[in-house]
Amino acid sequence: MMNIGIVGLGLIGGSIGLDLRTLGYHVLGVSRREQTCQQAITLGAVNQASNELSLLSRADVIFICTPIALILPTIKQLIPIVSATSILTDVGSVKTPIVEGACQLWPNFVGGHPMAGKAESGISVAQLGLFTGRPYVLTPGENTPRESIEKVEVIVRSLNSKVYFCDPREHDRAVAWISHLPVMASAGLISACMNETNPIVLKLAQELASSGFRDTSRVGGGNPELGRMMAEYNSVAILRSLYSFRDQIDEFIQYIEQEDWQIIEQKLSDTEQSRKEFLEHEI
Ligand code: NAP
Repeated sequence: MMNIGIVGLGLIGGSIGLDLRTLGYHVLGVSRREQTCQQAITLGAVNQASNELSLLSRADVIFICTPIALILPTIKQLIPIVSATSILTDVGSVKTPIVEGACQLWPNFVGGHPMAGKAESGISVAQLGLFTGRPYVLTPGENTPRESIEKVEVIVRSLNSKVYFCDPREHDRAVAWISHLPVMASAGLISACMNETNPIVLKLAQELASSGFRDTSRVGGGNPELGRMMAEYNSVAILRSLYSFRDQIDEFIQYIEQEDWQIIEQKLSDTEQSRKEFLEHEI
């Protein structure tokens, strides 16, 4: 059985460890804090843990599960430690800047993004089976050796996830639509509502708010660091999506100003249909 390395024993790294240990892999974990390393051993997410990357010198495949800003620096630190045949893969939610940087540093790199998560973070919320039935996107570089891609694919499939392959730029554009734009749109909704200047109206709105506001504000009320990461690392794609969204808002403003109720109904009837079709595969 292969030796698997995991750097960053948080929600994602810890959950990968729990699954892979159950499958019989030997899992070596590295995290920043000693306490996290101990907890990972106690929870059964790793066989051995350390805060020194040197623990991974004999790992065949290493999953880098640190916060996104630390992925490339971690790869740089791993290069003098690992053997030439070691395969590196990451789990970062944005792919283009990581795959471009990582493949230059280490050709044996396969980008990855498990599309599973939770609102909370850290090893204590790691969960066995977190990736079951969820998409796991792989974005290898142009020159990544085929055997390396296949090895990562086999491991990722063993998490019971649905594996997709795509170009990193396509990945980033797709997640801008379904994940990053919704965060900004939802945050904008919350801010706009809080800008109500009449305190009586604002209080009344709060008391009347029900499932509609709860649903539409949920992703805008999430982890601020994650939202910043999306904007910072996926700025090209998210700007493209936001410009398009702004056009849509402007259209609604125009229709209402023109008192064109018919076109609004038509538009909402189109979106009613589009939503059904778009989400069809989920049902
Ligand atoms: P997380 O729970 O905060 O885990 C990251 C862990 O990395 C922390 O627990 C921290 O552990 C450790 N860490 C921080 N600096 C480190 C360093 N210098 N060296 C080694 N370990 C370090 O976050 P997460 O949600 O698992 O996210 C991790 C990655 O997964 C991110 O790149 C994110 O883009 C990606 N991702 C997240 C989700 C999601 O929904 N959460 C989904 C898919 C992908 P200690 O400081 O305690 O040691």
